[in-house]
Amino acid sequence: AKARGRDRSALFDEEMRAEAMRLLDLEADLRRAIQREAFEPHFQPIVRLTDGAVVGHEALLRWKHELHGWLPPSEFLRVCEDSGLIEQVDWLLYRRVVAWMAANPGGYVSINVSPRHFHAEDFAERLLRIADEAGVDPHRLRIEITEGALLDDAPRAARILGTLRAQGVLAQLDDFGTGFSALSYLHRFPIQALKIDQSFIAGLAGESQAESLALVRAILALAGTLGIDTIGEGVETQQQRQLLCELGCAYGQGYLFGRPQPIKAAAGTPAPLLLP
Ligand code: C2E
Ligand code: CA
Ligand code: CA
Ligand code: CA
Repeated sequence: AKARGRDRSALFDEEMRAEAMRLLDLEADLRRAIQREAFEPHFQPIVRLTDGAVVGHEALLRWKHELHGWLPPSEFLRVCEDSGLIEQVDWLLYRRVVAWMAANPGGYVSINVSPRHFHAEDFAERLLRIADEAGVDPHRLRIEITEGALLDDAPRAARILGTLRAQGVLAQLDDFGTGFSALSYLHRFPIQALKIDQSFIAGLAGESQAESLALVRAILALAGTLGIDTIGEGVETQQQRQLLCELGCAYGQGYLFGRPQPIKAAAGTPAPLLLP
């Protein structure tokens, strides 16, 4: 038994080393990709649920890898965040986003910001500057952050959001319902919209239907009380859309309305500016 234990731990060490090598490789790859600016946004429409009108787009990070083609964040975001490379990657992406916005008039575009990046020195000022340099009205730009980014350092988060909002950049709270959901804190921050996490939208049909329904109802009631918009994430079926509509959720996003598309395809998508 002792010998087998040793084998097992040797095997474990080997796997650990292989994993460490893989991550190192990925980090070296990422550094080269940053040099080549090999990151582009894909755009996914956000629609008004009642009539499907496109009100904006979310910009989603993609890595155009030389060998593997388009890579989604699940393949590399962790390494970006752990290595601190995320800020460089994000700025490359945001520049592409505002350039696209300048060339494509229409609704708003929301960008994702990692918690650590959101709290970085001068984040708000820098974002406003690149919008200005691209000639983009900051009222068309939104940021998406998670609850964690708010609660990390609440007074500081409120200041950053205040700076952005004063210039027109609104904030949406991402993956809502999965985090701390200490709902009492919400009114202390200038938040324009809650994005209801896709796990609850998916759950509206599954085994945990009752729980998901209760949670979605609670989120919509809270948002209604606070005068905050709501966006259902990961809407894939007409049934989900219908239910969200009936529950009073105003906006939605998901494969039912459109998948994330690379720049060329997204440019053809009409995005009329509809004020919420
Ligand atoms: P997220 O912000 O929650 O983005 C929504 C994710 O759901 C996206 O995955 C999108 O492609 C996917 N999705 C959209 N509609 C549907 C649907 O109907 N069904 C299903 N199953 N999935 C759907 P993606 O693009 O792989 O992004 C994953 C996460 O990576 C994002 O989650 C966000 O947290 C992060 N991320 C994306 N872009 C950026 C970025 O530019 N900067 C940073 N820091 N993080 C980013
Ligand atoms: Ca998001
Ligand atoms: Ca989300
Ligand atoms: Ca997410």
